[in-house]
Amino acid sequence: MKIFTTRAALSDYLHSEKAQHKTIGFVPTIGALHQGHLSLIENAGKQNDLVVCSIFVNPTQFNDPKDLEKYPRPIESDIAKLEQTSCSALFLPSVEEMYQIGEQWHIDLGEIENKLEGKIRPGHYQGVTQIVKKLFDIVQPNRAYFGQKDYQQFLVVAQMVRNFNLHVELVMCPVIREADGLAMSSRNVHLSPQEHKEALALSRALKLAQSNFSEKSITENQAEVIQFLNSSEGVELEYFEICDGQTLEPVTSAETESIVALVAARVGHTRLIDNVILR
Ligand code: AMP
Repeated sequence: MKIFTTRAALSDYLHSEKAQHKTIGFVPTIGALHQGHLSLIENAGKQNDLVVCSIFVNPTQFNDPKDLEKYPRPIESDIAKLEQTSCSALFLPSVEEMYQIGEQWHIDLGEIENKLEGKIRPGHYQGVTQIVKKLFDIVQPNRAYFGQKDYQQFLVVAQMVRNFNLHVELVMCPVIREADGLAMSSRNVHLSPQEHKEALALSRALKLAQSNFSEKSITENQAEVIQFLNSSEGVELEYFEICDGQTLEPVTSAETESIVALVAARVGHTRLIDNVILR
């Protein structure tokens, strides 16, 4: 696997690969890689000639400076993990390589930006789309792989792709979980063994939403799951919503074509998100 730290060097390399008509699959990450990230790379490897992964702890998407500071950065072990995959090139830029001092611009993403995660983490999706746009410009992938784990992020990036008419196919990959059901996340390392057990309430809540789905109204389902989460030891619920899978507007009728249940909660000092596609 080749490692690039500058845009110019990565662009040069990709130019020569594209001249040989190779297709490129791209997996952007902020590092601390786990099986969830590796599943995206595996999918990219199956569908493209060449896989590019980026690791960049993007400061503009962190609205809490403490969260940015304590975000895990095990770069040596990340590289070792990538070496075992079909990843051909790793892009590992510095902040200075990606941003000019005082750089400020944003993309109008419409309503989707202010819901759920966007409401709780103002500016988060502006940061995400800034960096993803810059990375897409450099890599110019045929396909880019994102996890369903960050469902709203996928919708936001899709909105950006439509706004700019970008020639990239977005691929959503399923949530990879621990054997006990906890959605894999780089933040899970901050959970104590007790908190890990408490955090299982999130995936259990989504299971409950799934089993209720065919039997109860959306309103009853949502109320029951919220009650379950509120009574779960150690879980501080931020939101649980059953939403339209395209707009993230609350769903009030079971007739809606695409339906997803999304949850966010704090367990100790760790913020966790998870979701399940109900339809
Ligand atoms: P991150 O490094 O947390 O920004 O994640 C990079 C990519 O990996 C995003 O597209 C995430 O949605 C995806 N991802 C993170 N966790 C998982 C997971 N447990 N299963 C599948 N994809 C994931």
